[in-house]
Amino acid sequence: MAPVKLFRARVFTPVADPFRVAAADSYLSFDDGYLAVERGRIAGVGPWSEHPSGATAVDLGREALVIPGFIDTHLHGPQLEMIGSYGGHLLEWLNRYTFPTEAKFSDPKHAEAIAKSFFDELLRNGTLCALVFSTVHFEATDIFFAEAERRGFRAIIGKTMMDRNAPEALLEDAKTSYEQSRELLLRWHNRGLLRYAIAPRFAPTSTPELLERAGELKRQFPDAYVHTHISENRNEVEWVHELFPEAEYADVYDDYGLLSDRTILAHGVHLTEEELDLLSRRGTRIAHCPNSNLFLGSGLFHLHHVLDSGVGVGLGTDIGAGTTPSMFTAMAAAYKVQQVQGVSLSPFELWYLATLGGARALSLENETGSLEAGKSADFLVLDLHATPLISIRSDGAANVEDLLAGLIFMGDDRLVRTAYIAGREVSNRP
Ligand SMILES: [Zn+2]
Repeated sequence: MAPVKLFRARVFTPVADPFRVAAADSYLSFDDGYLAVERGRIAGVGPWSEHPSGATAVDLGREALVIPGFIDTHLHGPQLEMIGSYGGHLLEWLNRYTFPTEAKFSDPKHAEAIAKSFFDELLRNGTLCALVFSTVHFEATDIFFAEAERRGFRAIIGKTMMDRNAPEALLEDAKTSYEQSRELLLRWHNRGLLRYAIAPRFAPTSTPELLERAGELKRQFPDAYVHTHISENRNEVEWVHELFPEAEYADVYDDYGLLSDRTILAHGVHLTEEELDLLSRRGTRIAHCPNSNLFLGSGLFHLHHVLDSGVGVGLGTDIGAGTTPSMFTAMAAAYKVQQVQGVSLSPFELWYLATLGGARALSLENETGSLEAGKSADFLVLDLHATPLISIRSDGAANVEDLLAGLIFMGDDRLVRTAYIAGREVSNRP
């Protein structure tokens, strides 16, 4: 019999969607709790008074909070080094900063260095699962996959597909894009914790032929993901109407068979009713990236309207337009984006979006996203005494809701003491 390992600490986990059920039914919380791990899986969770006997126990202390790992549903690995590139809205920002940065990834040495920093940063921030854009480069994408595998990281990664409206150095022809994507997919999709995403950057950098090829790949590999952008910025939406005058933005992807329940579209700030209806019918998910939307001035996401339309939503940092890999900041920004629209999200709703909601958006909820028996043991140990101010705030918290609120608005990588994926320690700071 494999040994069961018990972690004793405060424990919090979402278990249901607080946008659909009463808040009290959406989570489990134990002031003095246990998490039992066996063979990399969660064997049980509950109050310490009911912990299983005969297991090895690690007492993490009262200042430790065990929670599920964060899930980032949209970011760009190669853009790590350009966080905070100043000024401009989406389209000029892409030309001025993003494309020159991504062009550097033709050099595998550069790709190796950034891929290493990228996963270092995700782990130190408590992100244990992510949907990631690489660049157009075959080798750089291969390097991101290999680095994820080396860390035991759970990732969905895709080579950017792009054959127009970008600098020459980043353009490929549709056939090459298809062939290289296919080869990477065959190499990495469903290998361990890794999955492949077919990833046209967005409609404006895609010819109809490229989208046709992407759709062909999706038909061949129906369980592969599709990852792209939609309706982030008003000028972008207008540009799509010029390039594809016969269709709404979402129809462009649908016309090539790219919308399914394994499709994640980043942003969706300016979607029409008809588009939301289409996405709902296809089961397509949105990655909401509030920090990025604020930084680029893209607009305010209508969260409840999207959810009420039946479209699933996860939370993303959208590095490098997002200004930090921290999902604490993503939660805080999501709160503020709704606040200015007159809606106050609860800490339970925000935490759900950053964990179990993200897992659902990525169709990984049977594996990760919450601390429930049978799932992979993907969890964090947070240090509620990480800084003097966080100590004061956490020790004085009236209840778990208040505790979580403080962490959302004051939290960053200093809170993350240890991270485990599939029961294996992947990051630990003294
Ligand atoms: Zn993006």
